[in-house]
Amino acid sequence: MKIVLIGAPGAGKGTYAQILREKYCIPHISTGDIFREEIARDTELGRVVKSYIEKGLLVPDEIVIEVVSKRLKQPDASRGFILDGFPRTLEQAKALDEIVDVDAVVHLVVSEEVAVRRLSGRRICPVCNRVYNIYYEPKPREDEKCDYDGAQLIRRPDDEPEVVRNRYRVFYETFKPIIEYYRVSNKLIEVDSNKSIKEVFPVVEEVLRRNKILRLQPCKEDVRVG
Ligand code: AMP
Repeated sequence: MKIVLIGAPGAGKGTYAQILREKYCIPHISTGDIFREEIARDTELGRVVKSYIEKGLLVPDEIVIEVVSKRLKQPDASRGFILDGFPRTLEQAKALDEIVDVDAVVHLVVSEEVAVRRLSGRRICPVCNRVYNIYYEPKPREDEKCDYDGAQLIRRPDDEPEVVRNRYRVFYETFKPIIEYYRVSNKLIEVDSNKSIKEVFPVVEEVLRRNKILRLQPCKEDVRVG
């Protein structure tokens, strides 16, 4: 199952990727997470991408393409993967075709208002990258602490409402040609993601099974959904 999840900030890409990863044991490859890790480790790459991310700008294509190309060559990606945050430009989409033949591109569709509300409540575990929300499920069980490792959850600077609105607009400006690109190549699957995780996740699974993209059996049955 080689899939890409696309959608505006707040559409739920990270959330559904995390559930699919746990349930089907394939890696969730998020360029945003890779960059945040590089920044945290203060690597050369981290210092370069930090200057773009802090301003709410996209990282240049050649940098992102190299990072993704290397990551997809790792052995754990051979059975399948969930790409999240890439491609974000037409150049990246074309470069991805040269690297691997993806099975489907799932576009999670969300309104701007729902995106702003969701992201203003989003909290991330700095240790394991799990995503929570203080307004919606999955809420952390204990006050702003990770359920799994107890780390203090953090709010990303780019989740501030004004930054979210800007990211949402940047997404639609840059993404129109990509959506068309995948529509033309018959790889695009659109799912309404304005509802709760419990309602949307079964739709994602069902549409992937119907299109014979999801053929794996769950490696874990008791995955928490919403
Ligand atoms: P995300 O967690 O996906 O929202 O990514 C956080 C930030 O990393 C974005 O706002 C961009 O600045 C940068 N980034 C992540 N993925 C890409 C990409 N495919 N192309 C360009 N910039 C990216």
